[in-house]
Amino acid sequence: TKRYHLAQRPAGVPDDETFDLREIDLDDPTGGEVLVKLRYLSVDPYMRGRMDAGESYAEPWAVGDPLRGAAVGEVVDETGTEFESGDTVVGNMTWAEYHLADAADLQRIETGALPVSTALGVVGMPGRTAYFGTREVLEPRAGDTVVVSAAAGAVGSVVGQLAKLQGATVVGFAGSDEKCEIVEAEFGFDACINYESTDDYVDALAEAAPEGVDGYFDNVGGPITDAVFSRLNVDARVAVCGQIALYNAEEQPTGPRKLAKLIETRARVEGLLVGDYAPRFEQASADLAEWVAAGEIQYRETVTEGLANAPDAFLGLFEGENVGKQVVQVEE
Ligand code: NDP
Repeated sequence: TKRYHLAQRPAGVPDDETFDLREIDLDDPTGGEVLVKLRYLSVDPYMRGRMDAGESYAEPWAVGDPLRGAAVGEVVDETGTEFESGDTVVGNMTWAEYHLADAADLQRIETGALPVSTALGVVGMPGRTAYFGTREVLEPRAGDTVVVSAAAGAVGSVVGQLAKLQGATVVGFAGSDEKCEIVEAEFGFDACINYESTDDYVDALAEAAPEGVDGYFDNVGGPITDAVFSRLNVDARVAVCGQIALYNAEEQPTGPRKLAKLIETRARVEGLLVGDYAPRFEQASADLAEWVAAGEIQYRETVTEGLANAPDAFLGLFEGENVGKQVVQVEE
């Protein structure tokens, strides 16, 4: 099988030197193993952290390791497992055409009538991040104003919709007019700020959210977050989910910059890690699948074809090339 490995640790933005596509012979499955033909791979921002030796919220890969991530595929062979050839499964696999998995690491797909790729997006990890991050950390209430960064993305698009369902007014940040149109028209946000064409984010927020910000779901960090902090209300809640604006930074900027605002507002800032909610994943996915099927939650996917294009699909996350969940369809 063809399989991607970490060729070397990137300094700053990863490039061709980071990724090594190798031809590997896989063994036949032995007791408890499953040979999976991959159909869709997920590329996610957190993988950038795994490429570094230092600490992040995900374990580092070793140089030479295969690149891993959530994936959907079809069982083609197995020995002594609960799976059968032809089953569609989801699990943590490698960026490859075929993957030899432990049966314990796979699950039959539970997307119901939805496309199987949604197991990587709205019904999968990003959807669950939105679900728990909104319910357990952001806690939007009717009448609140909620701001979501990376609003057109896999997590942000769902957060905004869930906050709307709770009766909040929702304002997004996204990187193009086209995205902002989708964020408003499809995902139902009340407003969306295209930060690429806006000089003063604080002014733009004052206009889009004149009553200030009661809840902020932060996917990006950096200058957008500085601006939102400036507009926090008393007792606001900030859910820190991601800091993608900083993942490729070779030098970290100093300090959280707007902490004085927390004194003024007694706001609460809390990090969230989706893995903490693992015992409740099944319920979350079932709820999300139901809401999508009922048309209460809209989702988008950006599908890149061909395993060879997986590195570009991954790098596109940092350029905002995706709308909704970025996946790679392994076969062209
Ligand atoms: P997205 O689908 O949102 O894709 C990333 C998006 O981030 C891009 O499309 C781009 O959109 C935006 N972006 C990239 N660079 C910048 C920048 N410098 N400034 C502002 N926006 C930028 O990814 P996910 O939904 O999968 O993940 C969103 C965030 O949530 C990430 O930070 C990720 O690490 C985090 N995450 C955290 C989890 C947890 O458990 N804590 C779990 C899952 C995700 P645009 O065009 O708008 O710039």
